Amino acid sequence: MTRQLDLGILPLFYLRPSLLEGQEDCVELYNENEELVSTIGHWWMADKALRIANYLGSLTDDMPSLTIAAWVDSFNRRMNRLLREVSCPTCEAGVGEVCKRPSEHPLYGDKSHGPRRDAMDEWLLRKER
Ligand SMILES: [Zn+2]
Repeated sequence: MTRQLDLGILPLFYLRPSLLEGQEDCVELYNENEELVSTIGHWWMADKALRIANYLGSLTDDMPSLTIAAWVDSFNRRMNRLLREVSCPTCEAGVGEVCKRPSEHPLYGDKSHGPRRDAMDEWLLRKER
């Protein structure tokens, strides 16, 4: 499954679900050369990141993918904070706390547990009402 947004411009970036073990809930952002730009923990964030990447990429032909990747990573880190607006049913991390492995170390790549993403979905839906 590949998702693309119709922005009225040539899409330069696209999304794919991650096939990596343990990251099946994550979405990967690729550039037109099939290079992985960023891994994103939630479809909602990935849609936003894709929109931004395609917008930035359309501004100039010579904006390097690396610059866009840095921008998307920064966006992704900020968006990860949204996940911390809810507590985690899996590791019981409270609001504002990062998800932890049983060893008490944070999850790899600043990610959150799947059930917390579901909880954030609920939280966002409630906020939109
Ligand atoms: Zn957690």
